Amino acid sequence: MEEINDCIFCKIAKGEIPSEKIYDDDNFFAILDNSPKAEGHTLIISKNHYKNILDVPSSLGGDMLDVVKKIGLKLIRDKKVEGFNVCVNMGGVAGQTVHHFHAHIIPRRQGDGLKGIV
Ligand code: 5GP
Ligand code: ZN
Repeated sequence: MEEINDCIFCKIAKGEIPSEKIYDDDNFFAILDNSPKAEGHTLIISKNHYKNILDVPSSLGGDMLDVVKKIGLKLIRDKKVEGFNVCVNMGGVAGQTVHHFHAHIIPRRQGDGLKGIV
């Protein structure tokens, strides 16, 4: 696994920083965001260090979609979530602050006061 010194998500992936992984497979794992926009805000993170979505091999796209569906369905089943936003920030100008590929799943509930991404 390619690892970049000082990358927070590489450290979490390797267990150097403890975290509760709510999902784990060969290519991705998921944790709760530590600054959540809503209860259950989840980050799906690649195990390898890819800088952003442009850097991720397209062959992982299907796996990634499977993880989105699994976590989204679990949120709907267990957390009374009615919908969710899936968001990938690509580049600092778009709000990417951790330059290791990840997707956000932001749970949505009626009356939560949040808006759509666009
Ligand atoms: P970005 O802005 O890069 O799309 O999203 C990075 C996300 O990672 C932010 O929502 C931020 O709250 C979250 N984050 C940053 N560092 C940590 C950490 O050490 N642990 C967890 N659980 N989330 C983090
Ligand atoms: Zn990394």
